[in-house]
Amino acid sequence: MEKKQFKAESKRLLDLMINSIYTHREIFIRELISNASDAIDKMYYKALTDESIKFNKDDYYIEIIPDKGNRVLKIRDTGIGMTKEELEENLGVIAKSGSLSFKKENELKDGYDIIGQFGVGFYSAFMVADKVTVTSRAVGSDSAWKWVSDGADGYTVEPAEKETHGTEICLELKQSTEDEKYDDYLEDYRLRSLIKKYSDFIRYPIKLEATRTRLKEGSETDRESYTELQTVNSMVPIWRKNKNELKAEDYENFYSEKHYGFDKPLKHIHMSAAGTVSFNTIMFIPESIPFDYYTREYEKGLELYSNGVLIMNRCPDLLPDHFSFMKGMVDSEDLSLNISREMLQHDRQLKLIAKSIKNKIKNELLSMLKDDREKYETFFKEFGRQLKYGLYSDYGVNKEDLQDLIMFYSNKEKKLVTLTEYVGRMPESQKYIYYATGETPEKIDRMPQTEIVSEKGYEILYFTDDVDEFAIRMLMKYGEKEFRNVSGGDLGIDTEEQKEEDSEENKSNDELFSSMKVSLGDKVTKVRASRRLKNHPVCLASDGELSIEMEKILNAMPN
Ligand code: ADP
Ligand code: MG
Repeated sequence: MEKKQFKAESKRLLDLMINSIYTHREIFIRELISNASDAIDKMYYKALTDESIKFNKDDYYIEIIPDKGNRVLKIRDTGIGMTKEELEENLGVIAKSGSLSFKKENELKDGYDIIGQFGVGFYSAFMVADKVTVTSRAVGSDSAWKWVSDGADGYTVEPAEKETHGTEICLELKQSTEDEKYDDYLEDYRLRSLIKKYSDFIRYPIKLEATRTRLKEGSETDRESYTELQTVNSMVPIWRKNKNELKAEDYENFYSEKHYGFDKPLKHIHMSAAGTVSFNTIMFIPESIPFDYYTREYEKGLELYSNGVLIMNRCPDLLPDHFSFMKGMVDSEDLSLNISREMLQHDRQLKLIAKSIKNKIKNELLSMLKDDREKYETFFKEFGRQLKYGLYSDYGVNKEDLQDLIMFYSNKEKKLVTLTEYVGRMPESQKYIYYATGETPEKIDRMPQTEIVSEKGYEILYFTDDVDEFAIRMLMKYGEKEFRNVSGGDLGIDTEEQKEEDSEENKSNDELFSSMKVSLGDKVTKVRASRRLKNHPVCLASDGELSIEMEKILNAMPN
């Protein structure tokens, strides 16, 4: 049987592509700059393999030229250029990627920096332009060609003039509407911020033509305007630099440049990983809590770059909830992107990255705890509650990560201590890890329930955050040691003999206790004698699943 080829209504297809792949029109600039960068990369690669080509770094750059008078934006590169055939193939065939073929032909590994692969990015130009003209001259050819299209009715190719190899894309912008001010794409501040946002780490200079004014020669009042090219991108991303070359200041600048916060970072983590998945990351622990941190509005996540090009502003999958306070970015060359390059295709690599990031954060926090106690306590006062929420909300799944990071106020040490420290100091006779809950350490100090434990010389952890006891219940044990609320039933302190005595005591006073219970009614389930009291005549205790404080918290929660 004869096999037929699919046909496509190319006009419709182009329209679909242009208007439905991308969520933001502004990314056209990212796409065109990425193409220009690829074209220069190819030159660089050619120069490595072809002696007749010299690659002098200064000759390679990308220019962005806004022309307000004609409402035209030009993007120019000194890259490899395209022949007439290449113009037709690469720009005339939807989903044909010359860059992908280039990588394949030259057997470049995935890790190579060339960005293009889907063969659709170029058409994003039609999201902002009515008409696109591409003038290109391939390296080694002495003729230039002009490709012109208005998107809908196909394209034309004709001979053109161009002095040097490379490509110039000329966008005739659409008329501004209520929704989109296309004219903004000619404004210096807008272009500058878009280049910074998406293409800051393209490895070649991106030079923006800016119009300035100056005094005319010989005049003290008359001004004239002139244009000037300014390099906008930082080129070498800080995360690819050698850690030894970077100072604390550099990280602080990066933190504020990236608007991670208005404060200073408390600590930075700079890590490069190679292996199953390779990536670079710079992360920060903020010094102070973001104002919306404990609200629903707060969005966790790290910026995600693929090969230096921004893909996602805030990728939530990179951070577990209990470390949601981390700020920063991840750059990887191993991500499989979807066609719009706005999302990821598979999350396997992402999961691997997230896992190693999580471990790194944990280890950094542990070493901060060990080496810089004061700093750790500053951190813990701001974000400790989140760690405890973490323990509670995922049912102890992240126990291993979190149990050594949490701290509580100790009545003995009069400061925050870790569970390891507590357990390390426990006398042999002590069975449990004791804690007491209350609003403030001062209030807990006055609780009658703490007396017997203190008298034994045992340390008590003070739980003053609502979440504390809930988190500990998830943990159940630390090492071999169980936790006990000092207001709970059996504190493991009384001997068998004493227990016997108590039950005698209760029996002989049964009448008294019963009548007390009757007059207290529903307020208590039982009245009994206790040897827990020293300086106080009476205290409340709870025997059930929930402590008195937990019940209070649960009752206070909105239904
Ligand atoms: P992709 O970049 O994913 O390959 P594009 O639609 O962005 O897809 O571009 C299609 C092809 O057109 C590229 O693969 C490349 O071969 C060619 N191309 C686009 N822009 C340029 C340029 N500035 N210089 C040289 N070739 C280019
Ligand atoms: Mg592209």
